[in-house]
Amino acid sequence: MQQSNHKKSKLSILTQNNLTSLRNKKLRWIFIALFLPIFGVLAAFNQTPSSFASHFKSKTIVQEISLPLASTNISANEEFWQLDQVRSNDNLGSLLERMSVKDEDAIKYLMLAPDARAINTQLIPGRTLKIKTNLAGQLLHLKYELDAENVLTANLAQEGYQVSTEKMALQNTHVLKSGTIKNSLFGATDAAGIPDQIALQIAEIFSSEINFHDDLRSGDQFIVIYEAFYNAGELVKTGNVLAVEFVNKGKTYQAVHFSDATGKFSYYTPEGKSLHKSFLRTPVEFTRVSSNFNPGRFHPILHRFKAHKGVDLAAPSGTRIKAAGDATVEFMGRKGGYGNVIVLRHKNNISTVYGHLSRFAKGLRKNMKVAQGDIIGYVGMSGLATGPHLHYEFLVNKVHRNPLTVALPTSVPIDAKYKEEFAAKSLNLMAQIHMLNRSYMAARD
Ligand SMILES: [Zn+2]
Repeated sequence: MQQSNHKKSKLSILTQNNLTSLRNKKLRWIFIALFLPIFGVLAAFNQTPSSFASHFKSKTIVQEISLPLASTNISANEEFWQLDQVRSNDNLGSLLERMSVKDEDAIKYLMLAPDARAINTQLIPGRTLKIKTNLAGQLLHLKYELDAENVLTANLAQEGYQVSTEKMALQNTHVLKSGTIKNSLFGATDAAGIPDQIALQIAEIFSSEINFHDDLRSGDQFIVIYEAFYNAGELVKTGNVLAVEFVNKGKTYQAVHFSDATGKFSYYTPEGKSLHKSFLRTPVEFTRVSSNFNPGRFHPILHRFKAHKGVDLAAPSGTRIKAAGDATVEFMGRKGGYGNVIVLRHKNNISTVYGHLSRFAKGLRKNMKVAQGDIIGYVGMSGLATGPHLHYEFLVNKVHRNPLTVALPTSVPIDAKYKEEFAAKSLNLMAQIHMLNRSYMAARD
């Protein structure tokens, strides 16, 4: 059940990764634009553009010249490595022609063969193409980075080209960073150069302890260790938070990542107590409480006093709503002032109610089992609502309780068979955090 929760957060992280890699692509573009004039000259050398960069910093060569390939000193069996970057308006033909490939069959094959076609359909300006040819201009070997993580290679063998797509070997690095809150978590992580997806993970890890909208104070501090994956010195993606310490209003919260043999992971206190609660305190991301649990509230639309048996969580229309805990769908449909509403039945006679939805999650059905964190619907203002918000109720034995303050059952601590392994990892990670903490404090004094 914890896993599905993390699966969801990984999905949202993925979309953010794309943004980061887009940004990286743009940077790469600038780099290429700067060195384009010299690339024509560089052909026929097997070297990377960066190693040339230092030599050509102050040179501007306007004209492209072709290299004198034919020479009496070059034997007929000579093979040449070449490296070039895709330019805008390039197609595979023009690109290979620029690289002096005189091999119609090879070009045709690469454009049409199902496993090689990607090289023609995914030609992105700025990406690198590396080829090996012989003196006759026959294409012997080709290597193209399809995206930040995948490389396509074609190798000429006796029976023709052998094409394969391989994952690039990424370098996994642990990044240790700290920050101080001035206005918001994102402001602080931006200032510290910490990616947004790591900030989101921090907020999710402590979501049961800290309300990142209302509880943060200027001067709150945090230290985080997270995974970052690099390819040739360039950040390709970030992974998971491995450990984090957050000091909020003078109180210290700590979390350590641990994954079991099956890859299922969760966050624990350094002592091994689970941070994962059996219920999410608020089942929508980025929310603020617009109306509290109140037994005698004046209803803004009905214009009379009516108990507010839940809490209103304001969020933009379309914001995803998660199942607060593992449950069975007891009801979904329209119901009076609730508009589109879902009722979930949990263990221990607990029910949760989600009202005013704009729509239900695709495929959700009555009597279906859902896991904590599963998306069940989207924020809207169906029924009696003045603006988009989630009306959320929490019932224990059919009695309404305040969802924001009701004592939530805690989850299981770390499995006994992982205790030793966890203790060692936790000790190591927390030692790094404490080390940074000390130097951080020393720098402030
Ligand atoms: Zn309400």
